[in-house]
Amino acid sequence: MTSEIPHLQQAAVIESPGDNAKVAIQTDIPVGEPGPDEILIKLAFTGLCGSEVRAIRGYGPYNQIVGHEGVGIVVKAGPGVTSPALGQRVGIKWLYSACGKCIACLKGFPNNCPNHVNTGRHVPGTLQQYAIADARFVTLIPDTVTSEVAAPLLCAGLTMSGAISKLSDLDENDWVIICGSGGGLGHIGVQLARIPRRFRVIAVDTGRTKRDLSLECGADHFIDFEDEDVEAKVKQLTGEGAGAVVVVAGSEDAFALAPKLVRNMGLIVTVGLPHNDFTIPLSATLCSARALTVTGVATGTEQQMVELLRQAEDGKVTPSIEVAEFHEVPNIFERLKENSITGRVVVRIPQ
Ligand SMILES: [Zn+2]
Ligand SMILES: [Zn+2]
Repeated sequence: MTSEIPHLQQAAVIESPGDNAKVAIQTDIPVGEPGPDEILIKLAFTGLCGSEVRAIRGYGPYNQIVGHEGVGIVVKAGPGVTSPALGQRVGIKWLYSACGKCIACLKGFPNNCPNHVNTGRHVPGTLQQYAIADARFVTLIPDTVTSEVAAPLLCAGLTMSGAISKLSDLDENDWVIICGSGGGLGHIGVQLARIPRRFRVIAVDTGRTKRDLSLECGADHFIDFEDEDVEAKVKQLTGEGAGAVVVVAGSEDAFALAPKLVRNMGLIVTVGLPHNDFTIPLSATLCSARALTVTGVATGTEQQMVELLRQAEDGKVTPSIEVAEFHEVPNIFERLKENSITGRVVVRIPQ
């Protein structure tokens, strides 16, 4: 198998992050060599996450090769790696590795490790033919889940599993609002809130296709934030407000609205990533007086990943995907910037 691995490969590379950013398909990117604890994966598909827009806009230091929802086959192992085996199909996630020694890691939440390494940020991502991964942090993909379906579960799905797990104090039939319900993360969030947890879901997004997808995913109601008064409609439906609002959208308006949509003792779960300078407009007095909780989510745990794949096998969670070819990646980035993608785009990696 080793002899078939080329020295150079194709990758989608972000050039000049910021206003004049460009994504170029390059054909002369060296294939990595796995070191200790590392494996080389020949990728088949990768999802393209909305958060990659941050890399294009220059909102922080990212690798020139982003992508963190990759599925492929292990083709080479570094020294000492015994698992996963060559030929096994695995998924690469945003969490490339964690330290295993900090409080978050010791509590079983390596996804919140302050010393974490992220795929597509600290190390090259999955918009390439061959990616290096830490063998200890990849996920085995069950045979019954196709690679293109598994890809969006690795970040979009897992992040929403993490977000919905925060709603442990809510009861069946409690109202949960998903803001950004028609996007890559949101539509999976609607399914996870509605089916396993049996919450009543109010989906908030805009446009016909996002409305249709949100309702197909099980939302009880859809509110179009462009045409309707979201706060008034939520009050009309829920009376006191929702038990929780999960803000998936990266839009500042969505975060500004969130405190107005929850009832007293309500929970605001932040998932979306607006510009780093943006703060949620929530007065300390209001937060105290209404006993609100604000909590954030950075992806989920491996246990949640395994459970999510099982839910996909059982048909409880089905990502809505659009498969695109590798040469279309620059255009997909433009669509992500415009927030015009419904569900998830998954890119086929040239073989
Ligand atoms: Zn992501
Ligand atoms: Zn740690």
